[in-house]
Amino acid sequence: MPAAPGPDHEIAIPPALIPRDGRFGSGPSKVRDEAVAALAAVAHTYLGTSHRQEGVRSVVRRVREGLRELFALPDGYEVVLGNGGSTLFWDAAAFGLVERRSSHLVLGEFSSKFAAVTAAAPHLADPEVERTDPGAAPRLIAAPAGDVYAYPHNETSTGVMVPLHRPAEGDPLVVVDATSAAGGLRASARAYDVYYFAPQKCFASDGGLWVACCSPAAVERIERIRASGRWTPPTLDLGIALENSRQDQTYNTPALATLFLLAHQVEWMLGQGGLEWAARRCDRAAEIVYGWADAHEYATPFVAETAYRSHVTATIDFDDRVDAAAVARTLRAHGIVDVEPYRKLGRNQLRVALFPAIEPDDLVTLTRAVDHVIACLVG
Ligand SMILES: *Cc1c(COP(=O)(O)O)cnc(C)c1O
Repeated sequence: MPAAPGPDHEIAIPPALIPRDGRFGSGPSKVRDEAVAALAAVAHTYLGTSHRQEGVRSVVRRVREGLRELFALPDGYEVVLGNGGSTLFWDAAAFGLVERRSSHLVLGEFSSKFAAVTAAAPHLADPEVERTDPGAAPRLIAAPAGDVYAYPHNETSTGVMVPLHRPAEGDPLVVVDATSAAGGLRASARAYDVYYFAPQKCFASDGGLWVACCSPAAVERIERIRASGRWTPPTLDLGIALENSRQDQTYNTPALATLFLLAHQVEWMLGQGGLEWAARRCDRAAEIVYGWADAHEYATPFVAETAYRSHVTATIDFDDRVDAAAVARTLRAHGIVDVEPYRKLGRNQLRVALFPAIEPDDLVTLTRAVDHVIACLVG
């Protein structure tokens, strides 16, 4: 039986207000048509071939070398990768990066999940946790007690970006969750020891992989913990991942399409001008969406302080006169998808990805579509 028609079912968005590409989700996110076409073109020679042979290993090499260039990694930094996404990397880090205790900045759902992993690990001391209310200016730890200092570059659940920083005191490994930031925000390698991410956000590929840019200190930590004989499940063993990555392989079979789309996106970014180009494009996207919200009668950026408003995932609150869920439903019915807020945040909000693959012009059109829907809903 069809759903009972509510007022939002009757709203029609005129074709001129429909973006050319309607994918604005914060992950999985828009995959560029050019990358999909390039994948289709190599389908018979690449897909379904052995990941231990040169064909696939050359793609892993392109990923590793491309990321090294994109992030201007200094000598001694290594690009390590494996299966399982950023969520698996938290488990692997609890085994292979944290020696005794970690310190965490928790700003929302994703950063809290890593802190929960180390809190539950029986071989580690209870983590030090500094919590910030969702959307507020991040509280930092000046002198972390842990040997790992973990924070997100962008907390995707709230749209807060954290400036990359090393603590003023102590010498912990700085381990940054860059899942939604990497490739869209500026990042100096000197500020981190581990910068890890997954390819389904700024890198416009699919999920299931994790990638970590590791400093010499991080590599040394991985090797030292490994030599200490700590029991580690092999799939979570960063030492094994490091050995395989050095040979342009993964420990077990990776998703070949994901690797290909990632390589394609990295090379697209490099061809356009690299990370600075991508970051400027995200700045422009942020200007469009926050500028629109700031000027809006019903909308306000969720993050009050402009310095912390994410340039990769924008969160926009609406006042009581607008039902944001109804707006998102109407957009979805027209093929404009995934602008719902992070479910557990529970706000009257829309969240819009500003990733490099997303055309700024499409964001302009999106804001017009939202205005149109609001005008119809509010009357
Ligand atoms: C998406 C996201 C994750 C989870 O990534 P998976 O690849 O799904 O495990 C972790 N941290 C942040 C900041 C994210 O945006």
